Amino acid sequence: MASVDIQGLAKRFGASDVLRPTDLHIADGEFVVIVGPSGCGKSTLLRLIAGLEEPSAGRVLIDGRDVTDAAPADRELAMVFQSYALYPHLTVYENIAFPLKVARLGKAEVRRRVEEVAEALDLLPLLARRPKALSGGQRQRVSIARAIVRRPKVLLLDEPLSNLDSALRVKMRHEFARLHQQLGSTMIYVTHDQLEAMTLANRIVVMSAGRVEQVAPPLELYAEPATLEVAAAIGSPG
Ligand code: ADP
Ligand code: MG
Repeated sequence: MASVDIQGLAKRFGASDVLRPTDLHIADGEFVVIVGPSGCGKSTLLRLIAGLEEPSAGRVLIDGRDVTDAAPADRELAMVFQSYALYPHLTVYENIAFPLKVARLGKAEVRRRVEEVAEALDLLPLLARRPKALSGGQRQRVSIARAIVRRPKVLLLDEPLSNLDSALRVKMRHEFARLHQQLGSTMIYVTHDQLEAMTLANRIVVMSAGRVEQVAPPLELYAEPATLEVAAAIGSPG
């Protein structure tokens, strides 16, 4: 696990400040949930941390190491996307193995690691299938397996459950809580589901229009929202 430090991190697209200068310290092993209305900059913040987007200003530190100029693969993190982003022409096994092959691990080690995460996520019977032969929940589990197979210190999740039906969302919510305990990795999780935020988070980050409005543990945020935007995002009576 690793701490994540964001220092003065900002992003402009043309004339629009998609992320205003932001400071945030996330502790080792912490589960942080980012909430806020659509378009407020949540995905941009995650993509900046992942290195998929170049900041206009500021720095990202992982475990105290400045990774602002490091490639995504050199940041010891992994990201799970809303769309799952699986390779359609590859089997489940090959999808999960992909990051390990890129990292040039030996064949036996690849097999051992793929089977280990497949077992943890109930995917062993599905390893030979292709993504189109899987349900939404199964696809999501494959994308999680692929993200954790390299044992990232930090796991970034961008609305990972938003394409699932509500019964499956509840089940997967418990899975994430279990996974966090099991892996001990630092989790940064974007959602617009208030219940997910309240039940999963050690701390919730509320964003609005490109800025962080408030950062606090769920109950504190609910009891004492600092602004109307926070009250709206968290469903608190204000
Ligand atoms: P969220 O994930 O909170 O819905 P995003 O981070 O995806 O918000 O987007 C924040 C804002 O930045 C939106 O107004 C979006 O249109 C804009 N934006 C995101 N990516 C780009 C881009 N590559 N070029 C221009 N504008 C962008
Ligand atoms: Mg988004």
